[in-house]
Parts: sequence; structure tokens; C-alpha cells
Amino acid sequence: MLTNDQLDKWDRESFFHPSTHLAQHARGESPNRIVTGGKSVFIEDRDGNKLLDGFAGLYCVNVGYGRTEIADAIAEQAKELAYYHAYVGHGTEASITLAHMVMERAPDHMSKVYFGLSGSDANETNIKLVWYYNNILNRPEKKKIISRWRGYHGSGLMTGSLTGLELFHKKFDLPLSQVIHTEAPYYFRRPDAAMSEEAFTAYCASELEQLIEREGPDTIAAFIGEPVLGTGGIVPPPAGYWEAIQKVLNKYDILLIADEVVTGFGRLGSMFGSDHYGMKPDLITIAKGLTSAYAPLSGTIVSDRMWKVLEQGTDENGPIGHGWTYSAHPIGAAAGVANLALIDKLGLVENAGNVGAYLNAQMKAAIGEHANVGDIRGEGMLCAVEFVSDRDNRTFFDASEKVGAKIAGAMVERGVIGRAMPQGDILGLAPPLCLTQAEADKIVEVTADAVKAVLG
Ligand code: PLP
Repeated sequence: MLTNDQLDKWDRESFFHPSTHLAQHARGESPNRIVTGGKSVFIEDRDGNKLLDGFAGLYCVNVGYGRTEIADAIAEQAKELAYYHAYVGHGTEASITLAHMVMERAPDHMSKVYFGLSGSDANETNIKLVWYYNNILNRPEKKKIISRWRGYHGSGLMTGSLTGLELFHKKFDLPLSQVIHTEAPYYFRRPDAAMSEEAFTAYCASELEQLIEREGPDTIAAFIGEPVLGTGGIVPPPAGYWEAIQKVLNKYDILLIADEVVTGFGRLGSMFGSDHYGMKPDLITIAKGLTSAYAPLSGTIVSDRMWKVLEQGTDENGPIGHGWTYSAHPIGAAAGVANLALIDKLGLVENAGNVGAYLNAQMKAAIGEHANVGDIRGEGMLCAVEFVSDRDNRTFFDASEKVGAKIAGAMVERGVIGRAMPQGDILGLAPPLCLTQAEADKIVEVTADAVKAVLG
């Protein structure tokens, strides 16, 4: 077995890690962690630490670690048939079954699912389908996509553009010109403290409408949004938000893409965020919870109204010019089938709603009155704590103080993983959906302790 020192050396020499300070890592100035195993909500590392993973990897290991049902399904599939492609009508029992299971769970007006590998590539697929759709309908000018500041939709060229976080644009020449951003539905950071939630919703809808009018409605093809903002700060929408936004989109014949990479398959305590908030999307992006990350797989769920136009397009132009070698990969599909069955068997959608509400309530009770806690918010098994230097005036800490990162660091020292979200001093929690109340108590206890250690 390789020693930790050997692995550390190779890691620093050879491994280009995503979302990492490359220079510090290569110089050995930042810590690394070599993860060896996981069971339920815990992971273990080579230094012998056992940590409660309050972020489920990257909010994706929804059924928890070490589920042998999924591992066995993957092994069986690999032995029987590790790969065959899905082009020109090919499939496997696993991919066809998974498509059926996804459509059984999707909102009624959805028609078909296309499988990719990551949330980023699924959103790339979405934008291509939107453009194709408008070309088939003879609307070649209707191509721009509206996304929100603080939205997260991936880190490719198009999807990094859709993402509304500075770090993902700066020095990459993004966003691309076809992408424009509108107000984030972020009530805590509303422009005027006196605004009610309803007034803020009306403000967001009005900002959107003004943007559409400024750009020209005939140039706007689609609006993309996460039902609950995720990486941008774990922000549930203000009251009535999706209803108000959809009204504007319908008025200008603009498609709605619901990016449910985080919210799909139970995280909000509902199967989809679209059901949760009464959204009627034309496309739904799925990934993480589809396989609980036991194998890479994503998907684009297409509505009836878009599907009809896609069919018309191929009647007029021949087969759709879109596909990945690994689309509907049998191993990912087998993981997906076993994962969705397990979510049902264990009642995890319901558990996410119940234990998630408990986690949020306990967090508020424990630290809601702390002088540096500006906001505690969440929905289902999502919870965020936002730190401020002055809670009465909502004054934020200087970014250089790295308050969020320090609190997440203090939590790890105490055995719980939380995530310092990339923009602002926001601690994010998104545990596996199988979290118990006792484990929720542990997360709250450690968070409160870490806050005390860092902020007093
Ligand atoms: N969309 C949302 C809402 C996400 O949270 C993410 C990833 O966190 C993505 C898309 C991109 O997914 P991936 O990292 O699999 O490309």
C-alpha cells in the first residue's frame, strides 16, 4: 500500500484539482484529504478521521455512502455489459428502465429524457435544444438566455456563462454574449430593507420584464433558474416568486429551464422542485440525485410542447445532431435504477422534508440570535447560515477575513463537514437525505461550537 507521504507527493506533482487554489496546492500550502471510505452520512480518510458529511459530497450522495444495493447493480451491469452506445435507437435494459422511472416521477407535462454525464453537459444540451427549437419555429433571432446573478449551472463555456458567480467568469472571457443576467431572488440582500417579500418578488419580476424589453422580446429564448439557488448561497425564493416570473415568461413566449441538478429527486422534500413551487418548465436538468453520484449520469427532461417541435425538426432535417459517446451509459443507468428504487424504499423524499425542517428549526434555535448571524434559511434538506459583521444593518464582513471558510474549517476540526459557499460568508449544509434527527442535532451542535470559536 502506498504511504500517505507518497500519495501527497504525487498529488501535488500531478493532480490538477477542480475549484482549487492551484499555486497554493502545488506548493503544499493548502491541506489535502485522501478519502478512503464512507458509510451512511459519514466519510473516512487516510488519517483516520471519521467525518459527518453535512454536504453529501457536493450535495449529491443523497442516499448516503456505502449502499451495497447500488454497488451490486453497478458490478452486475459491468460484468454483463459495461458499455454500449445509445445512438440510433440503441439502449439497454438499464437505460430504458431508468428513462421510464424518471418519466414516472417527472411532472405530467414532460415527455422524454435525454441522458448525459454531468449537470454542466445537461445544461449545454438544454441550450442547444432551445436554439434548435426556435430555428425549427423560424425564429432565428430568438436566442438569448436569461440567467440570474448567483445562479449556478455548471462551468463549461455556455454553462459557465449561465452561472452568475464572478469567480467562474473572471479571466475566462465569460459570459458569452448570448447570456444575460437578471436579479437574484435573494431576499436577505434586497435593495431596500423595508421591502416585504411580496414587494421584493414584484421587484424581481419587474427587473426581468425591463431586461426583456430592453433587449427586445423577440431576441430572448429562455430563462434558466434553480428552484432554490444552490451554490450562489442556498437561497429559497421569496413568496410568490416562481408564479410572478412565469407570468412574465409566458407574456413574452420565453421558455423556462428548471435546473434541478440539486433539487431533483427529493432534496426539498418533494420529488422535484418544480412540483414544490408549482413551476411548469419546458426543460428540467437532472444530475446529482439521479444516481446519488454512485456513477456519473445526468439528464435533460423535455416537455411535450418542446418534444413535438424536436420531432418536427428531425422530420425536416434528419437525425438530431447531438449526442455523447457516454450518453445513457449502462453503468450509470444501472446505478440510477437502483438509486431511485432505494429512495422510494427508504422513504427518503419524506425524510428530507421532515428532518430538513428539524435541522433548520434547530439551527435557528441554536444560533439565530447570534450577533453575527444575519440569516438562517433553507428548504427541505438544505440549510444556510449567512454571517454579517453587523446584523442590524446587514453589513457584510470583508471578503479577506474569510469568515465562512474559517467556520467551515472549525467545523471539520470538530468532525462535521459544512461548505463555505463561494460568494459571501455563507455556510451551506446539504446532508444526505437519510440524515437522522440525532445526526441533525450533531450538525447543529458543531456549527454552534464553531461559530463560537471563530466569532465569539
Ligand atoms: N446545475 C446546478 C444547479 C448545480 O448545482 C451544478 C453543480 O453543482 C451543475 C448544474 C453542474 O453540474 P456538474 O458539476 O455535474 O457539471
